[in-house]
Amino acid sequence: MRVLATKNLSVSFGGNQVLKDINIHIEQGEIVTIIGPNGSGKSTLLRAIIGAQVPTSGKVEITSKQIIGYVPQRLNIDETLPMTVYRFLSLPRRQQPGDMDAALQQAGLSGLGKQPLSTLSGGQFQRVLLARALIEKPSLLLLDEATQGLDHSGSADFYRQIERVRQELGCAILMVSHELHTVMRTSDRVICLNGSICCEGAPEVVKVAPEYRLLFGLDDAEM
Ligand code: ADP
Ligand code: MG
Repeated sequence: MRVLATKNLSVSFGGNQVLKDINIHIEQGEIVTIIGPNGSGKSTLLRAIIGAQVPTSGKVEITSKQIIGYVPQRLNIDETLPMTVYRFLSLPRRQQPGDMDAALQQAGLSGLGKQPLSTLSGGQFQRVLLARALIEKPSLLLLDEATQGLDHSGSADFYRQIERVRQELGCAILMVSHELHTVMRTSDRVICLNGSICCEGAPEVVKVAPEYRLLFGLDDAEM
């Protein structure tokens, strides 16, 4: 079942066309990764999907009753605020303790609700953001560079958790990354974006695609 599709989605800022005729689709239970260099329009695409960015032309089709969970790339949160995880999860809307505990468990943070935010590691904080996106039991989860700032093992752990989330909730997951090798194992499909879609397919296919290798300046020795 299709969860989401975009139809010739284009976004311009002034004369600067950032997204051009983007056609993507996500099926239920799929993990799809959008990969592309800085400034290639990845965040803009996610923002268009959640309705925070109005397309210049084209549209986003979301199957009715889909609940979207979203972890933005940048959050204006002071992690040192004297606030517990529970309190943070209750912003901006009050949440039921049972729902918060379920979301924390799904994010791999069981029992951490009463912990102050300031005591969490970077990886744990990213999972708190994941938990917050899971509270409403989304059928589509959008993650914008959710492992930014984590080291290799931290980001591998995070992606393992994402696979568990998919298994447990059966939701579709659309994530943004700028590194293919870290998402290879986790993704069913990869879409390589550079303003327009330059190639897409299974990770092993994209990895050897000339368009992808050219975009990231990889030579054959790195295959
Ligand atoms: P990515 O997430 O792939 O790094 P973005 O989608 O954040 O790329 O940005 C793509 C381009 O669009 C960049 O050149 C950025 O400066 C520009 N851009 C993004 N949002 C805005 C905005 N609200 N106003 C003007 N330009 C923007
Ligand atoms: Mg971005």
